[in-house]
Amino acid sequence: MNLNTKPSEVEVRNSDGEFYIKWSDGHESLYSLFGLRKNCPCVECRGGHGQMGSFDKSLFHVNPTQHFEVENIDQVGNHAIRIHWSDGHSSGMYQWETLRKLCPCEECMKREFFNTQ
Ligand SMILES: [Zn+2]
Ligand SMILES: [Zn+2]
Repeated sequence: MNLNTKPSEVEVRNSDGEFYIKWSDGHESLYSLFGLRKNCPCVECRGGHGQMGSFDKSLFHVNPTQHFEVENIDQVGNHAIRIHWSDGHSSGMYQWETLRKLCPCEECMKREFFNTQ
């Protein structure tokens, strides 16, 4: 798997609570918006610099306890996007590499990308 892979298709499905990415290598990722919001990579959401990188992919597989929608997406360079959430939060810069690592599909759930320091 190549972590430098870029998306060829990105689709927000607010009504289904889903975020879809098709990658240039053909892999498809379907994220729950809840899991994506809860895994916001900003310093505040990650609990400070010491915690950076501690994502929890199990959040993509739980029943959402809150409803989140994507209001807007900014492209940041060619390596990341900034997501503007319906709760007003927008400090999270989601790098493509992070999103690829966060892919909650069965195959990718078996990989532990975030446990190594
Ligand atoms: Zn955040
Ligand atoms: Zn995957």
